[in-house]
Amino acid sequence: MDFFIKKVMIYLLLSSTSLLWRCAQEETSDKIMVGVSIQPLADLTQKIGGSKVSVFTIIPTGANPHTFELTPGIMKKMNSADLLVFNGIGLEYWLNNVLEALSGKKAVFTSEGLTILQEHHDQHAEGNPHVWLNPQNAIHQAKRIYAALTDVDPTNRAYYETQTAVLIKELTILDSDIENQVNSWKQKRFVCFHPSWVYFAQRYGLEQAGVIEKTPGQEARPKDIAELVETIKKIGARAVFAELQFPARSVEIIAQESNIQVITLDPLGALPQTKSYVDLMRYNVALMNRVMRE
Ligand SMILES: [Zn+2]
Repeated sequence: MDFFIKKVMIYLLLSSTSLLWRCAQEETSDKIMVGVSIQPLADLTQKIGGSKVSVFTIIPTGANPHTFELTPGIMKKMNSADLLVFNGIGLEYWLNNVLEALSGKKAVFTSEGLTILQEHHDQHAEGNPHVWLNPQNAIHQAKRIYAALTDVDPTNRAYYETQTAVLIKELTILDSDIENQVNSWKQKRFVCFHPSWVYFAQRYGLEQAGVIEKTPGQEARPKDIAELVETIKKIGARAVFAELQFPARSVEIIAQESNIQVITLDPLGALPQTKSYVDLMRYNVALMNRVMRE
């Protein structure tokens, strides 16, 4: 091979790799980058945004949002996002400290406009933040994500509208499926480790009869544990609902003393099978169903 041909080949090779590199770059920069605080809302955002968005989750799914701490790496990512999606009601309690650094960023608080329950949640002055566990609230949150996305990217409004309509249909079916299932349950009262399920309970006519850890991160006192064991006996509960994100010894003690099971729920989508919001809800309801139906 003479020198000239070699030179041409090297040139072609270089220009094609740089072309590939440019394509890869354009592909990511083409998409609207959205940072979402928790996985269930990240899934709703992904469903609405489809191929037009690139979504990242701010709080890792295995982490406990009540004790989560922002890292410089995540802060940098948030700064480069086109839109930030939050739950609100103090779930992103760390936001106050970084509002200045994020000033000028487009952000949406998806719980705005919902009726907020105060009960059994001492950490957040604003009320109980676990709104998304009622699918009707999730529909409201999806609509707010849709509005924010079309604001940031109005040219794709029609696309987002179609995607949102499909999602709302799915969530409506999910809601009535859960309603049917819960209606068949004989047991309507439950005790849980942390008050994540009050919106869910309100929607489907269940009652949270007791909660172990009213303030996240603060272990229950022996007096509280004794009270709960009493409640469990009184209501005839067959299980205590624990949470993947809150491993705690008090749950084991209570379950042992009352001779009932621990059912470990996942309100945040930490498992491979609960990444989508619909799957997350179905997963938890199936677990509850085991102990609530009779
Ligand atoms: Zn909570």
